[in-house]
Amino acid sequence: MSFKNLELDEALLKALDTQGYTNPTPIQKQAIPVVLSGKDLLGVAQTGTGKTAAFGLPILQLLNEKKSSNRGIRSLILTPTRELAIQIDESLEAYGKHTRLSHSVIFGGVSQHSQVQKLKRGVDILVATPGRLLDLMNQGFINLKSLEIFVLDEADRMLDMGFIHDVKKVIKSLPEKRQTLFFSATMPEEIQNLAKMMLKNPVKVEVTPPSSTVDKIQQRVYFTNKPDKRKLLLHLLESNGIETALVFTRTKHGADKVARFLDKAKIRSAAIHGNKSQNARQNALNNFKDGKLNVLVATDIAARGIDIDELTHVFNFDLPNVPETYVHRIGRTGRAGNEGIAISFCAADERKELKDIEKLASIKIPVIDGHPYPMDLNAEPAPAAQNRNRNNRQSSRRR
Ligand code: AMP
Repeated sequence: MSFKNLELDEALLKALDTQGYTNPTPIQKQAIPVVLSGKDLLGVAQTGTGKTAAFGLPILQLLNEKKSSNRGIRSLILTPTRELAIQIDESLEAYGKHTRLSHSVIFGGVSQHSQVQKLKRGVDILVATPGRLLDLMNQGFINLKSLEIFVLDEADRMLDMGFIHDVKKVIKSLPEKRQTLFFSATMPEEIQNLAKMMLKNPVKVEVTPPSSTVDKIQQRVYFTNKPDKRKLLLHLLESNGIETALVFTRTKHGADKVARFLDKAKIRSAAIHGNKSQNARQNALNNFKDGKLNVLVATDIAARGIDIDELTHVFNFDLPNVPETYVHRIGRTGRAGNEGIAISFCAADERKELKDIEKLASIKIPVIDGHPYPMDLNAEPAPAAQNRNRNNRQSSRRR
């Protein structure tokens, strides 16, 4: 099936052609006709499935077809992180090149001045993170009275990141009569309730990227000692001549330490995480995309929305506690039909995390032996939780 079968306008087809997209992805195939028909949509899909175009293309088409006399915001796309917001805005720019629609993006952490100036000039489609949106609404710079289409993107992340109250506040200020598109990678109960509250007779579309995306990615695990992880990373980067790698650490501090270590070893690296300014994060991301940096070390939240087609390697420097996060992380590679390699380091106290990941993905990740930094099997294993608790109790009794 090609995009032509989806009854998209010439203006959009031309833009898609420039992007080099010929066939719609599964979420696009299912969602575009629903959105074009004016119905509400519940999309269960994660980043990497092509969901931005799945809502972006039909929104551009609907708004472009139906000229509006008012100068208010006609579509609002609410997304949890600045990086995602910027990426959605860039996609709208690319897909909407041949339309007359205007779009803009607002997010926190930077001065509001230029964002406000753009809003004053009039914006058809606004991409926003919740905090800055509410802030500018409260200051009277944003009015959503003429809104026609609302998109809630990554609803489950909104919940994880503590934005759900802000999201509910935004929803209260939307007109009753509107089309709503709701996207979430997972559907925990609170998200199901939110969807029920917001959507009217929605059509549900669901894609299952975890296994299909993950199938294409070669996965490996190296058992090692915690203090040796940085040396092992350096060894693997150097001995395999790896040009682009995204490295995930559990903590911000850990990300900084790894980036500093690699930089000292003359591997051009930067860390991105929530403590870095928006400009520093965007610079690091741009430098990485332009090939000026080889390695980006990131925490999960900062890496949300990082979308680099040529990324060949993802390293799990630390294994995530939540097994779904592993799937999200490694889904950053193997994009756009490319091969991807995901390498995980597992220290003695991370065996449980590894087991949980293998259970979730129903796979056994191949173990690579014979590397220079093997796990010291004679080392004292980390005490089991029960023992630790018993020890604590004993010591408190002694006190
Ligand atoms: P998303 O899930 O929206 O973040 O998209 C993931 C990646 O797929 C992005 O790099 C898009 O540019 C790319 N993409 C989206 N739709 C298509 C398509 N139909 N064909 C090829 N690549 C696409």
